[in-house]
Amino acid sequence: MTLTAFTSEDARFDRQHIWHPYTSMQDPLPCYPVVAAHGVTLQLADGRELVDGMSSWWAAIHGYNHPRLNQALTAQVAQMSHVMFGGITHPAAVALCRQLVAMTPEALECIFLADSGSVAVEVSMKMALQYWLGRGETRQTFLTLKRGYHGDTFAAMSVCDPENSMHSLWRGYLPEHRFAAAPACGFDDAWQSQDFEDFARLIETHHQQLAAVILEPIVQGAGGMRFYHPRYLQQVREACDHYGVLLIADEIATGFGRTGKLFACEHAGITPDILCVGKALTGGMMTLAATLTTREVADTISRSAAGCFMHGPTFMGNPLACAVASESLKMLAEGEWQCQVANIERQLRAELLPLRHSPQVADVRVLGAIGVVETHQAVNMAALQQFFVEQGVWIRPFGRLIYLMPPYIITPPALSRLTAAIAGALDHPHHFVS
Ligand code: PMP
Repeated sequence: MTLTAFTSEDARFDRQHIWHPYTSMQDPLPCYPVVAAHGVTLQLADGRELVDGMSSWWAAIHGYNHPRLNQALTAQVAQMSHVMFGGITHPAAVALCRQLVAMTPEALECIFLADSGSVAVEVSMKMALQYWLGRGETRQTFLTLKRGYHGDTFAAMSVCDPENSMHSLWRGYLPEHRFAAAPACGFDDAWQSQDFEDFARLIETHHQQLAAVILEPIVQGAGGMRFYHPRYLQQVREACDHYGVLLIADEIATGFGRTGKLFACEHAGITPDILCVGKALTGGMMTLAATLTTREVADTISRSAAGCFMHGPTFMGNPLACAVASESLKMLAEGEWQCQVANIERQLRAELLPLRHSPQVADVRVLGAIGVVETHQAVNMAALQQFFVEQGVWIRPFGRLIYLMPPYIITPPALSRLTAAIAGALDHPHHFVS
């Protein structure tokens, strides 16, 4: 197969005209042209091959160019690529939603298919607002955690960490919600009951205005890659039950096995009232997300003045995305991921934990197929990214975090290339901002 060329003129156009995530148009950081991807390998335009440590931001759990996902996509293309979801349904959506209902906690049985993670979060928050309207109350405040991340649309941003998402920029425009101190007690630490005190105080004081608590269960991802104690999540669930506040679990990053459980809520044995999933839902092939809730929440929403749930995007339930997601969930149901994630966890512990002794390193943590090396100083992104590419790996650090979340199919030697590259990176002071 001839790969599409990527010329220096393409690179110039890209630099001049195309925004990439969180970049300046005036002085963008370098971008590396990828022309093909297969398994755990990304192929650059100049022919170099990189071992992927990112799963394209938690998504490509089965690796790239997977024949089963490709086959599901082409079979669906041959039948129907898209059709509106208003007044129409189709087999791909029904098959996918059946699987989602079967694999999530029993109470979650009503599904809204959304186009991206951020939209799934918007939908979950709107569900909570409409739920209270259905009960004849106006409740418009959310309680969440500092260091959280839920997406870049405005409602989602309003519940992201106020500093990381620069709430100061949006003051007066963004709704103001309640933020509990980020959990300090780590996943493997002995539980300290004072960790929950701030949250307990906030929910006790404000519960009558709270529409819902929204949080990332167990793993706070983009806000700091922190793994918190399951007891914290259990206490959140208990407090929400006690005060009659809905609980929204954003499993967009953690869902589908990444933390060693199918869903991170399982570490705490809790069921949320509303669950958001995305990213790995399609095995990273294309964008699709979903928001699931209980019959009671759905029925109460239907009793609100609107009489229905007020959301319906153009590409809702896109058949291509549903067909691919359905195949990806079938692959997960076959169960190999459990062994793969456990093996990755074991190897990450063996190869990353010794880096704790490096003078550059503040902390190393591993949970499931996630490995995090937190440094004392912020990374020099451009220098470190270039170093990683020269080492033949794709690792995208940010702030003081160098982290791995490889596709589950990664082999031990390929994973060792990733961990060795991180170890090597720590030896060069110019990779860090002094
Ligand atoms: N929630 C969480 C926990 C996420 O990690 C992300 C994406 N990083 C989102 C929501 C937003 O998803 P998307 O980028 O697909 O809009």
